Amino acid sequence: MSRKPLIAGNWKMNLDHLQAVAFVQKLHWTLKDAAHESDAVEVAVFPPFTDIRTVQTLVDADKIPFALGAQDLSTQDSGAYTGEISGAFLKKLDASYVIIGHSERRQYHHETDELVGAKVQAALRHGLVPVVCVGETLEQREESGPTAVSVAQLEVALQGISADADIVVAYEPVWAIGTGQVASPEQAQEVCAALRAVVADVLGEEAAARTRILYGGSVKSGNIASFMREPDVDGALVGGASLVADEFAAIIRYQK
Ligand code: PGA
Repeated sequence: MSRKPLIAGNWKMNLDHLQAVAFVQKLHWTLKDAAHESDAVEVAVFPPFTDIRTVQTLVDADKIPFALGAQDLSTQDSGAYTGEISGAFLKKLDASYVIIGHSERRQYHHETDELVGAKVQAALRHGLVPVVCVGETLEQREESGPTAVSVAQLEVALQGISADADIVVAYEPVWAIGTGQVASPEQAQEVCAALRAVVADVLGEEAAARTRILYGGSVKSGNIASFMREPDVDGALVGGASLVADEFAAIIRYQK
């Protein structure tokens, strides 16, 4: 089964809503000038919560073919949860995706595998596609090998979801995020293949064949093609390089 590549830009806590407008317009025009084939690759941007409405209005008005996602969501749907954002609200803003379990949330907000699982359930309840992030630290890789941590994280995250659930998985080795120390394509392939086997075990072969698995961690225009040549890498979750319009456009236009 052919899977449409997904190039996803995780802005993290960068670009306020005014900067977001300028950035999205610039990215759109850069891609247009180069006659980007919008059908070949799906592009998604993940701005901070406070930008989402602004970006939604812009992509809607100018018919910009970027999907929209959030960087997190609440396990709850509504109510007395100060500071939380419901999946229902994100859906109302036409968000399609939500990043769940990014290593920065696991590290700085002590998010556990169980909480990540509850957030996956919340996303699916509201018709959002969870982008489930997994990945090991350098110490974990040395201790238990390249795949064990990611496999265990994904097994918990997928518990209790139905076989026809639409999900995306992102393998992001913690040691490669924002460090410039990129994984090799072979390392990415090894873990992505193991993650596809987890999807097959938990959700079945059909789900494994259609689920997109991304690599993330210091992806740039100069290395994207080498990852995309790997059979189990279906796209990239891009942090730093997604904030520079020319660079992100070059990643989107990668040639295998
Ligand atoms: P990076 O971040 O591309 O800056 O390494 C990736 C991510 O955290 O999603």
